[in-house]
Formats: sequence, C-alpha cells, structure tokens
Amino acid sequence: MSNTVIPYGRHQLDEDDIAGVVDVLQNGFITQGPKIPEFESALCSYSGAKYCTVTTNATSALHIALLALNIGPGDTVWTTPISFVASANCALYCGANIDFVDIDPITRNLCANHLAEKLKAAKQNNTLPKAIIPVHLSGLPCDIEAIATLCKPYNIRIIEDASHAIGASYKQQSIGNCTWSDMTVFSFHPVKMITTGEGGAVCTNNPSLKNSLDLLRSHGITKETSQLKKSAQPDFYYEQQSLGFNYRMTDLQAALGLSQLKKLDAFIQQREILVEHYRSLLKETPLILPPALRDRRSAWHIFITNVNFFQNHIENEALRNDLYKHLKENNILCNVHYLPIHLQPYYQQLGFKQGDYPIAERYASTALTLPLYGALTSENVAHICHLISEFFSAIAD
Ligand SMILES: *Cc1c(COP(=O)(O)O)cnc(C)c1O
Repeated sequence: MSNTVIPYGRHQLDEDDIAGVVDVLQNGFITQGPKIPEFESALCSYSGAKYCTVTTNATSALHIALLALNIGPGDTVWTTPISFVASANCALYCGANIDFVDIDPITRNLCANHLAEKLKAAKQNNTLPKAIIPVHLSGLPCDIEAIATLCKPYNIRIIEDASHAIGASYKQQSIGNCTWSDMTVFSFHPVKMITTGEGGAVCTNNPSLKNSLDLLRSHGITKETSQLKKSAQPDFYYEQQSLGFNYRMTDLQAALGLSQLKKLDAFIQQREILVEHYRSLLKETPLILPPALRDRRSAWHIFITNVNFFQNHIENEALRNDLYKHLKENNILCNVHYLPIHLQPYYQQLGFKQGDYPIAERYASTALTLPLYGALTSENVAHICHLISEFFSAIAD
C-alpha cells in the first residue's frame, strides 16, 4: 500500500464513460453537435436552473458570466481571497478592478459580516462593486442567502463560483438553481466532482443572460432567425453581433459529462462515508475538521483540515509544513487550498499586502487538504489517519 501514491483528489471513470465518448467518436458530431444541448439540459434538470451554457472550462465560464453582466473597465468585482486564482482573474480579464472580502473562520467561505462592513464603507467612498463572486469552498455552500440580502439594496449582481459544489445544497435548494444569484458556474476539471477533461458551465434563470452567454461563447455569432438584424436571409446567413470568443465545449466532452453526471449523487455518497471515517479517526488529533452544518449539504470536493496544536499559528504553520512532509514521505500527497490570492506576487504588484485579510491569511497558514475521492478505500483513510496520529504523538512526547 505504501508504494502507490495517494493524491488529494482524483477523477473516477468507468466503462460507461468510455463507451459514451467512443460512441460520439464513431457515430456523432465531434463538436457543435447534439451532445451539447443534451448535457446543458441534463445540468438544468440536475440543478434546477432554467438555462445552462457549457464552456471550455470554469475560467472561461466566469469570464463570460461577468461580460454578460456588462462588467468592464471602471467596474469593481469582489470575491474571497481563499479560492483558486480564476475566481479573481476573471474580473481582470474584463478590465475591471478586483477586491476581496475576508472569510468566515468556521466555513472558510466569504463572510457575510465582513461583507456588511465593507459594503457600508464602499457606499461612503463610492467604491461599491458591480458584482460579487462568492465561492462554495470545498463544496460547502457559503451563506448565499445572507450575501444576497446584503447585496440587494445596492443592486450588486451575484455569480456563484460553484466549481467545487455541483451536487451540494443550501436551505433545501440545489446549488446551481440560482435562487439567490444571477448565475452559477461549475467546473469539470478532472480533480472536481465530475469531469469532462476540461469543461465548465454557467447556469441562470434569466433568458437574456442565457442569450448573451451563448453569443459570448461563440464569437458573438448568431444564426437564430428571430435575432438577426437583417430579415429574409438564406440559410447559410449568420451575423456577428458582438465580440465573443471560442469558448465552446466539444461533443466528446459533453458525452463524458452526461455519463459522469448520472453518477454524481453516488460519488457524493461515497465521499460522505469516507468523511465520516475521517471524522471518527481524527477526532482525538489536534486537527480542526470541516464543520457539519444543518442547513446545508456539502458536495465534499475536498477535505480541508487545519493544524491546531499550539496556541500560536506561526508554530502551527511550521507543524503543518512538517505534517505535509511526513505524509509525502509516506506517499500521501496532500495540498493547501488555497494560498491566499492577494498574496500571489501578481496580486501584490496590484497593491494587495500581507495583513489585508488576516483571517484568510491565518487560515491558509495552517490549512492542509487530506485525500478524498471515490476510489479511496476505508483502509487508505485508516492508514492516513494512523500516520497523522503517529506524527502528533511523536510531537507530544
Ligand atoms: C477549479 C476552479 C476554477 C477554475 O476551473 P477550470 O475549469 O479549471 O477553469 C475556478 N474557481 C474555483 C474555485 C476552482 O476550484
């Protein structure tokens, strides 16, 4: 067992997935065929959204979601510093400014209380954002209803970055049904809940946003008779009406996504069992485990812990680094989700500094993501937990 490397996350593929892709290769359109609308409508049925546009990846999905809201130079977008850089980069692609709201130390998500304070200050300084991108970190939904209530008086648009959270729910609502947002974005990168190789999606209930998203995905070109500026044109006629991109998913990917989506609920159930196993074996260790909240169900994209052995987080950070190394020496490849975005050199060049978001910084300094994926066995989990317990007993001695 100790010879095989255990990564922090891994995709799950079976014969049906492979057969679905092979079928498209043998019989279908490779791209721009029927699998795209089929996958989009399956994502709508699954999440409860009215419309869905699939794209090359979640990064391009976030990009066109902001453009569909007419975000551009002079506008400001807020997100959380604890996310993958794509949640912030998308604003910069549009020429907009980016700013961050500190996190809640329990859920590790964008904090509604910090948001309330920051909105008050921004109102006074005339620096209110045009849009906000809350992230459901690790698959655990953020407090989206509270965030929406705070944003409403200012007419701030909301895009949920649900790259981790397809299959999660909040107050009985599926993430993706956009009850409290304008749009929700999913990622189908292999490390996420389900995969299309690379892939992303934007869900919305707003038909005019759906129309903009479709145009932006494909060069701003339309062939829809009802939308053409010139009427009574021959069949081959098309119009470019705005400046879009080629952010199209292929039919091969959509076929894989259709097959993967059928298994998503089973994937989450497997992960829930492994999480319970982790909880029971780690409860005596000085690791802070993810919260279990009654009003929401996590999709369990990743299993985040925090080292909490010393009083002092600087000592805990050194210990986290040692624990990471100890596990790596035993072929367990953990990770940290995430290094705060505002501390990346590129963002420091934009003017962000150490100390800007203290809760996020303290969280990240002691965070460690343990392996979690469907093919992980309960023996694997027991082995990992044994290594962790051993590590802490050696320190305590
Ligand atoms: C993975 C991820 C993205 C980007 O997804 P891609 O499909 O790789 O472009 C965006 N936001 C978050 C929170 C992610 O984890």
